[in-house]
Amino acid sequence: MPKPDLIQTLATEIKTCHKCELWKQRKNAVPGEGNLDAAAILVGEAPGYWEDMKGQPFVGSAGKILNEILLKVEISRSDVYITNVVKCRPPRNRDPRTSEIETCTPYLDRQIKIIKPKFIVTLGRHAALYVLARSGFKAENLTKIHGRIYETTLLGSEVSIIPLYHPAAALYNPKYRDELNKDFQLLKLRFGRLE
Ligand code: URA
Ligand code: SF4
Repeated sequence: MPKPDLIQTLATEIKTCHKCELWKQRKNAVPGEGNLDAAAILVGEAPGYWEDMKGQPFVGSAGKILNEILLKVEISRSDVYITNVVKCRPPRNRDPRTSEIETCTPYLDRQIKIIKPKFIVTLGRHAALYVLARSGFKAENLTKIHGRIYETTLLGSEVSIIPLYHPAAALYNPKYRDELNKDFQLLKLRFGRLE
């Protein structure tokens, strides 16, 4: 089946998924969006208020910051694929639970298998923990590992995993914004347009 059909089938499954409790309070599940031939997948944590309202990833205040950073380093949102570890909004934006992450991440795994990205850029602690552990790396503090490049094989393909801070962290703390800018800049310098 061609990629768009595979992704569409998966999106339909996600939108009607009842596998964990999070479906009960959602308005819309947020499967993800972007370029299906992208070299890079950006993986956030979970939808927030606006993402739940619109069914799209990173369209609220964290999304605004992400857009600003991407613009600054001249990476187009349409060049990458953007999704989350957990596809439905946790009530009051609480952290996703381990059981919810376990139940939902087979969807992320399938997205990775369909898109076959060269880079997986994780945004925030939860995404870093999941993707690094999935590839057999030991979990370490983001303060220590952000901006590092982990070359590995994940789900049958060679990938570079790059853990970054979450854009929402940059909302209230300029230090994180500077670090995010620097890390994205580095990515861009090293890998060009991420294409
Ligand atoms: N925060 C996330 O982690 N993901 C989104 O899609 C929006 C905000
Ligand atoms: Fe299904 Fe994931 Fe939504 Fe839970 S968060 S209901 S597992 S799509």
